[in-house]
Amino acid sequence: MKAVVYEAFSAPPQIMTVPDPTPEPHGVVVKVMATGVCRSDWHGWVGHDTDIQLPHVPGHELAGIVEAVGRDVTKWKAGDRVTVPFVGGCGACPECHSGNHQVCDRQFQPGFTHWGSFAEYVSLHRADINLVRLPETMDFTTAASLGCRFVTSFRAVVDQGKTSAGQWVAVHGCGGVGLSAIMIANAVGANVVAVDIAEDKLALARALGAVATVNASKVGEVAEAVIEITRGGAHVSLDALGHPTTCFNSISNLRKRGKHVQVGLMLAENSTPAIPMSRVIANELEILGSHGMQAHRYDAMMEMILSGKLAPQKLIGRTITLEQSIDALTTMDRFEGTGVTVVTEF
Ligand SMILES: [Zn+2]
Ligand SMILES: [Zn+2]
Repeated sequence: MKAVVYEAFSAPPQIMTVPDPTPEPHGVVVKVMATGVCRSDWHGWVGHDTDIQLPHVPGHELAGIVEAVGRDVTKWKAGDRVTVPFVGGCGACPECHSGNHQVCDRQFQPGFTHWGSFAEYVSLHRADINLVRLPETMDFTTAASLGCRFVTSFRAVVDQGKTSAGQWVAVHGCGGVGLSAIMIANAVGANVVAVDIAEDKLALARALGAVATVNASKVGEVAEAVIEITRGGAHVSLDALGHPTTCFNSISNLRKRGKHVQVGLMLAENSTPAIPMSRVIANELEILGSHGMQAHRYDAMMEMILSGKLAPQKLIGRTITLEQSIDALTTMDRFEGTGVTVVTEF
């Protein structure tokens, strides 16, 4: 099969012909029909992810058609249309037993712990607990845009933030994660303040339901601006970028007993950001993480998509070929363009 392979970190990836994968006894091989290009892939490529062993095939936001099925798989057959969350569970550890496959002790992450979906085929483990069936009406490009940023945002807003109608939600960073969170928070009835430094991204944030925006490059104090707009601070605030500044601002703009949810990854030199801990104590703030979402929680999100309350297809920026994915991956840190880039030609 054709695959995007890199043999050293930060070295240019290449299109190569590699052996077709075969399914694990508990897994499937999926013919990739669409795969998103994500900043996590960029982090992996530059060497920020210790799970990656070289040579490596990136790609974790995928949707496709089951091609081959391992002998122990009971729920899936060739021809099924599927997607997966970016963290797959083992099914046997205490976290999986408690239903929290997103923090499994032995995670399967395509494109990180194993070869990913920047390829014609991808091998997926523990298919019976990790695969998600696609509704007939959902196209592969939209489905590919769900598995990482959209589900992580859904978990951040709904399951971790427990956002409810009428609350104020601040979203720091309006890339794929942030825009997803804005759409989801708006759909559950919250009032959203979007924060970014790019006017085109703030315009998209307003189009997706943000009732107020803050251009962080134009105001002196971002947290003060959000507190003023929200008349006392956000109930729930997300760092959707993953940067010490946005993390700090997100905690600082909370009202008393508010919840900060860290969604953007904090890696390398950003891994230990400054936290206004005196504020956390005095105001009884909560600091939470969001790390993908279990396959069994997709149902709630899918129902909101099918009913039209969530429209992830609005977040798709451009569709590209597998050849073009190399450029898209290696320039991901420039934050060019709006929305999610998806590979749709292999
Ligand atoms: Zn991703
Ligand atoms: Zn597990």
